Amino acid sequence: MKKVDYSAILQQVYDQSKAFADEGKVADYIPELSTVNSSKFGIYLHTKDQTNYELGDRLESFSIQSISKVFTLSMAFSHLKENIWERVGVEPSGTPFNSIVQLEYENGIPRNPFINAGALVIADILLSHLKNPKEELLQFVRALAQDESIQFDTKIAQSEKESGYHNASLVHMLKAYGNIKNPCEDVLDFYYNQCSLSMNCKQLALSFSPYASLIEPFDFAGIVLSKSQVKRINAIMLSCGFYDESGDFAFRVGLPGKSGVGGGIIAFHPHEYSIAVWSPRLNKKGNSARGMKALELFTTLSGQSIF
Ligand code: GLN
Repeated sequence: MKKVDYSAILQQVYDQSKAFADEGKVADYIPELSTVNSSKFGIYLHTKDQTNYELGDRLESFSIQSISKVFTLSMAFSHLKENIWERVGVEPSGTPFNSIVQLEYENGIPRNPFINAGALVIADILLSHLKNPKEELLQFVRALAQDESIQFDTKIAQSEKESGYHNASLVHMLKAYGNIKNPCEDVLDFYYNQCSLSMNCKQLALSFSPYASLIEPFDFAGIVLSKSQVKRINAIMLSCGFYDESGDFAFRVGLPGKSGVGGGIIAFHPHEYSIAVWSPRLNKKGNSARGMKALELFTTLSGQSIF
């Protein structure tokens, strides 16, 4: 790939995306998330030659929310291998991340592991297979990011638990179809904790560099994935990483990635780089408004997307 001046490009991304700083709204359906300063913006780029480029609030931790679904999918896939697809699909849902309607039509098999229903099934799988699911998740993420300081944010988890009627509905619906084996309360407790993982842009960029195959083999804290398994996870990020905006993200940015309602987005270019952005205001689809724009600018200005 042709050499580009990443420092200059990130500065342009930072400056030009400012125009979008007031677009969107901070998530407030989880009350604790709404306490964040909405003007925060950070960006961190980690390249294949281990060089880092960074700007803004990239070292400030935030709630990674649905980005955690990639980590839990990786753990469940490593344990269950191909059997995992009996309980969750791999198709884009075309519906919002917390939608419940499709689940009834499709008999309790969620379309993919990145909508909430799918992530709840993955959480259930981990509860069935791991002795200390929360601790093992933490160890896995710390190993990926090479950072032992990463923690759950119990205030956020508690806040979501108190207001999580939607997720409670989903897990009960799944249970009614026989696709949840553990008590609903236990599944929700694990799920809220995984979503509350608190990370900064640097930790996110580093933790996704193994998915970009910048570090091989994929073997972190006992979670081992083959090249083919990593390929499959990356494919689901491309097709389902942004819910019913996944097509638009591929169209505008052209990278696999994953978003969360904390305003974080991770994306990567296989064998080249991983890049994390954070800006808490969300668009109508629940993805960071300025973050989406920043990544679109980045791949446009650098001329580096997977297409
Ligand atoms: N914890 C959030 C929820 O379940 C995660 C959603 C997201 O980041 N898209 O609603």
